Amino acid sequence: MKRLRAAIRNCRATLRRDAWAELLRPLAQPVIPFGIALIGLLWLFTWQYVRMERDNVDRETEQSIANLVVVVEQNAVRTATELDRILKFLRQSHSRNRDMEWAKLVKEEYTVDDEAVQIAIIDAKGMMITSSAMLYPPAPVDLSDREHYRVHLNATEDRLFVSKPVMGRASGKWSVQFTRQFFDENGNFAGVVVISLDPSHLAKTYSSLNIGANLGILLVGDDGVIRAGSGTYKNSLGASYVNSDTSTDVSRFFDGTTLTRGGTTEHPKLVASRRVTGYPLQVVIDADGLVSPNWLRTRDLYYSACALISGLIVVVMLGSAYGRQRFESKIVHLARHDALTGLSNRLHFREMLDSAYASGGNSLKFALHVIDLDGFKAVNDTYGHPTGDALLMAVSHRLRDNLREGDTLTRLGGDEFAIIQAVSDFTFEASALAGRLCECMKEPFEVDAVVLTVGASIGIAFAAEDAPSTVELLRVADLALYNAKESGRGTYRFYSEELNAALVARRNLENGLVNALKRGELEVFYQPIVSLPSQKVAGYEALIRWRHPERGLVSPGEFIPVAEETGLIVPMGEWILRQACRDLAQCPGDTTVAVNISPLQFRDEGLLPAVRDALAESGLPSSRLKIEITESTLMENDSDTIEKLSSLRKLGVLVSMDDFGTGYSCLGYLQKYPINCIKIDRSFVMTIGTERSGAPIIRAIIALANSLGMTTIGEGVETPEQLRELIALGCSEAQGYLFSKPQPASQILNGYVPRVEAA
Ligand code: C2E
Ligand code: MG
Ligand code: MG
Repeated sequence: MKRLRAAIRNCRATLRRDAWAELLRPLAQPVIPFGIALIGLLWLFTWQYVRMERDNVDRETEQSIANLVVVVEQNAVRTATELDRILKFLRQSHSRNRDMEWAKLVKEEYTVDDEAVQIAIIDAKGMMITSSAMLYPPAPVDLSDREHYRVHLNATEDRLFVSKPVMGRASGKWSVQFTRQFFDENGNFAGVVVISLDPSHLAKTYSSLNIGANLGILLVGDDGVIRAGSGTYKNSLGASYVNSDTSTDVSRFFDGTTLTRGGTTEHPKLVASRRVTGYPLQVVIDADGLVSPNWLRTRDLYYSACALISGLIVVVMLGSAYGRQRFESKIVHLARHDALTGLSNRLHFREMLDSAYASGGNSLKFALHVIDLDGFKAVNDTYGHPTGDALLMAVSHRLRDNLREGDTLTRLGGDEFAIIQAVSDFTFEASALAGRLCECMKEPFEVDAVVLTVGASIGIAFAAEDAPSTVELLRVADLALYNAKESGRGTYRFYSEELNAALVARRNLENGLVNALKRGELEVFYQPIVSLPSQKVAGYEALIRWRHPERGLVSPGEFIPVAEETGLIVPMGEWILRQACRDLAQCPGDTTVAVNISPLQFRDEGLLPAVRDALAESGLPSSRLKIEITESTLMENDSDTIEKLSSLRKLGVLVSMDDFGTGYSCLGYLQKYPINCIKIDRSFVMTIGTERSGAPIIRAIIALANSLGMTTIGEGVETPEQLRELIALGCSEAQGYLFSKPQPASQILNGYVPRVEAA
């Protein structure tokens, strides 16, 4: 038991340590994975939806940029064509009229925007002949180092050259040169016609397209050098253009436009490029980190809503899990506790015992007290169930008040309780507690302003000594309780081997009795009943005997109560009835046979048919059959009893009241029921001749019977004196050892003559 208690203490400590585990236990509820899956799905769908939205926005952006790059390219083509047209025109005008000064040709207005465009003519040696900014240069200007000059000097074919942006020596401004060579009358290289374009002019045009903060528009030469730029590239003139995004993984080509997408979701990069048709140029739109604010707002909205719904799901999920956990804990508690008293119930009690037996050793140092309330049913029947319940509560409190720490009180059900008492000195401690409980339960209870008195019977058994298992322990404790009740209630009894032996004997008796009937071990003995005036045999009483194979003749006093308790009395009684009728039918004359009928057999529906069958089968006249009943039979259901007795009487069967004077001896019975004969109990007859003679009572009974027209039989007549007195008192018949003990049919029926004559 100490080990059991230590185990419980350890268990509590572990529980305290594992408070977190207890707190987290609801997370094992199925609703949690369900909730998590739901949240996961929600986020997956939201993410997918946001991606879809993003794709839509991206497609729109791509489309806009693709459109934009086409517009820009067309613009570049227009500008380049215009400039090339001017170059060709100048060259052609000069070749047609070589005498005309270049300065006069250049002076003409050829362009839309004079500020953006300058024209210059360089001779074969690289010296500037004229320029729109300086028609007649005061000093020679050497441009032979310029790239456009050098390209044309060595060129084998006539083609437009677009230079890298260069800083003007005279103007100090950035310019991009569009150049073509011109020839003398012999077709030899004669110089270069140059149109310088201010790149900011191009940039200005792009800026008007409202391209946004993260967008750059570029005009890039085939050599990769930026000729003009706006937006994010407005300060990149002359630099090399490299698409810096290395993570690009998507490229699309349509309608001559190359579209590359890269960067990250947060910082996407979109580059659209397109060759300027017919020129060594390409336009590039570089959108770096271009994210639609609308899309960002939509995304944030979706994610916020998703987070909010997830939060709600978490709240509902946890609420449900904790609620369910509480509910389950309550169910578990209810399953193991009595709803009325809050004590542990039979299930829990058995679990405790089972675990003690499983642990064995010191865990079995306990006594089991099984307590049954005496008189509780009467309280319930008289005052009703609510009062009964209140009494049970009061009883449980009183029992608990008498226990020590470590003892466990259980309500097994109804008015039955049990205590597991931790003991070291078994008998001493257990009897001290049981004695205390018996005493305290005798004290009245005041329940609902009613004073109630009950008591307690207690059966005690010791776990280690008396039983090897829970089931056996409960059985032997019940046996001890049964013994306590039989011993007058309000007391306690220990289980003992003797008790068990008595029970075993009883079980053997029960089993043996069942077989006795089948194996023909039962015999009917007969005891003569002598008519007193004539001293002749008036009849016989049939008395059952069991010829036990080992024990010999067993008296009915031992086995009739068992037969009554097991219900075996009914088939057994029917057999006796048939046998008695058969035996007496062999006996000539008008002697009667009296058959004892126990109360249980009398109540049985089969009695009347059994009587009829026995008479019919044997051919015995019904007037020769007597039924002996006791007062306890008459105490049963009134109308049924009267009806049954009347039916028997109608059959012609006689009825005797056996053992009269020992029970309630209610005189009313004699008047109410159709009875023929009263058998005066042996206890009165045997006092005859003693100091406390029952003669006056016998006289009164005989007088009463006579007045009601009944006969009387004196039972248990053993002495001639008793016989004389009965004759003197006017008794009709007598039965007793004085005449004969009960004998087998073969010895007593036919020809028996009473051998004792009253003196
Ligand atoms: P009972 O019906 O009152 O039967 C009389 C009992 O007194 C018989 O005991 C009988 O042997 C005994 N007896 C008769 N004369 C004397 C005497 O002078 N002195 C003493 N000391 N005893 C005498 P038995 O046969 O042991 O039967 C005991 C009881 O068992 C019967 O009491 C009856 O109640 C019951 N019983 C016997 N046979 C049957 C039966 O076939 N069916 C039923 N239901 N009960 C039976
Ligand atoms: Mg009898
Ligand atoms: Mg009797």
